Amino acid sequence: MRYSKLFGKTRKQAPKDETATNAKLLFRGGFIRREVAGVYNYLPLGIRVLNKISNIVREEMNAIGGQELLLSALQNKQSWEKTGRWTAFDALFKLTSVLENEYPLGPTHEEVIVPIAKQFISSYKDLPLSVYQIQTKFRDEKRAKSGILRGREFLMKDLYSFHKDEKDFNNYYESAKKAYKKVFKRMGLDVIETQAGGGAFSKISHEYQVITENGEDEIIYCPGGDFSANIEVSPVKEGKQCDLGHGPLERARTIEVGNIFPLGTKFSDAFGLTYKNRDGKDLPVVMGCYGIGITRLMGAIVEVHHDDKGIVWPEGVAPFAAHLIHLGGAKKVQSSKFKVQSYADQVYEKLLKAGVEVLYDDREDVSAGQKFADCDLIGIPVRLVVSEKTAGKVEWKKRTETKTQLLDLSEVINRLT
Ligand code: ATP
Ligand code: MG
Repeated sequence: MRYSKLFGKTRKQAPKDETATNAKLLFRGGFIRREVAGVYNYLPLGIRVLNKISNIVREEMNAIGGQELLLSALQNKQSWEKTGRWTAFDALFKLTSVLENEYPLGPTHEEVIVPIAKQFISSYKDLPLSVYQIQTKFRDEKRAKSGILRGREFLMKDLYSFHKDEKDFNNYYESAKKAYKKVFKRMGLDVIETQAGGGAFSKISHEYQVITENGEDEIIYCPGGDFSANIEVSPVKEGKQCDLGHGPLERARTIEVGNIFPLGTKFSDAFGLTYKNRDGKDLPVVMGCYGIGITRLMGAIVEVHHDDKGIVWPEGVAPFAAHLIHLGGAKKVQSSKFKVQSYADQVYEKLLKAGVEVLYDDREDVSAGQKFADCDLIGIPVRLVVSEKTAGKVEWKKRTETKTQLLDLSEVINRLT
C-alpha cells in the first residue's frame, strides 16, 4: 500500500475528549474515527488489524471443532421474552421500527442460536456441537470512556457449545481454555486465566485478563501463575503467601479480553432443547458460551504495546509486516531524488512480489523527521529505509530496537517471508 494513497493519515494531536491511550494513539495513527461515544469507525489500517486478530481467533476456534456461522443483529423480541432477558438484560438496545415492531439489537446470541440448534439436535448422535461467529454486538453501556475497550457497538467472537452431559461439557471447556491461551499468545499478549463468578447459570466461569494501568477490573493473582481470581469472587486477599511457595499474591488492574462460561441448561430449558439418549430418554442439552472481544483486544494490545512515540504492534496483529520509507524528497537533495525514489519503487515492487505486506511511504514533500515520526506512531514491526546513504541496500530497523542494519534486499525478503 502506498501511503500517499492510504485513506486515513496521521495526526499530531488527538481530540481533547479522547482520554484513553488506545483511542488517542489509534486516532493519531489513522486507524479509527469516533462516530458517537462508544462507537468507532475502522479505517483501512484499523480493519487490517481487526482482520489479523479475527483470523487468529478463527483458526483456533476451527481447531477445537467450531463451525463458523453468522447470526442476525436484529433479533426476535419473543425469544428474549422467553428467557426473561427482554427486561433483565440492562444494556439491551430496544428498537422500535416505523411499523411499530420492537426488536432487540443483539448484545449476545443465545436467544438466536438455541432455537436454531433445536431444529438440528434431536439425538445424542448430534452432540457434541460447537458453532461460533465474529460479529458486531450492541450494548447500551453506561460507561463508554475507554476508547475501543468498552464500546456500545463492538466486534465479538462468540462460540456456543452443546453437550449431552456435564462431563462432555467439562472436556470441551478444558479444550477451550487451551485454545484461548494460544489465541492470546499469538497476539503478543500475556493473559492471566482468572476465576470469576458464574452469574445466574453456574458457580464459576473464567476470564482472560490483561494487566494494564487503567483496566476496569481487578484481580488477585500469584506471580508464579498458579492462581488468579477476580477480586469480586476472590476467596483470598493480596499479600497472602501462595500455597505453592511463589511468594505473596499480588493485586492488579486488568482488562477482560475474553471469558468462558458454563450455561448449564438455562437456555435449553427456556427453549425446550433436548436430545434422546441411547435409551430413548429425552434429556436437556448442556451448554457453554465462550466470548472474545475482538475490538477490545485491539485496544488492549495498544494499551500494553506502546511507547512515547506511538504504537508497537506485535508481529501477529500488525497491519503490515514492514514500513518502507524513501528519503530524498526534501528540496536539498532534489538532484538525487529521482534515483532514490526509483530504487525505492523497485524495492516496494519486489517486496510485494515476494508476498510481503508492506506500507510504502512514497511521499515526496515530507521531511525525513516526519516520515520517521509517522512510522513510529503507526507502529509496524519493521522499518525499511532507502536513501542516498543506503545506496543499493536497505536499512533495517525493528520498532522495538534502536539498532539499524544495512542489508541486501534479498536478506530483507528472507527475513520477512
Ligand atoms: P464486561 O464485564 O467487560 O462488560 P462481559 O462480562 O459483559 O464483559 P461478555 O458478555 O461475556 O462480557 O462478552 C465477551 C467478551 O466481549 C468480553 O470478554 C469482552 O472482551 C468483550 N466485551 C464485552 N463487552 C464489551 C464492550 N462493551 N465493548 C467491547 N468489548 C466488550
Ligand atoms: Mg458487560
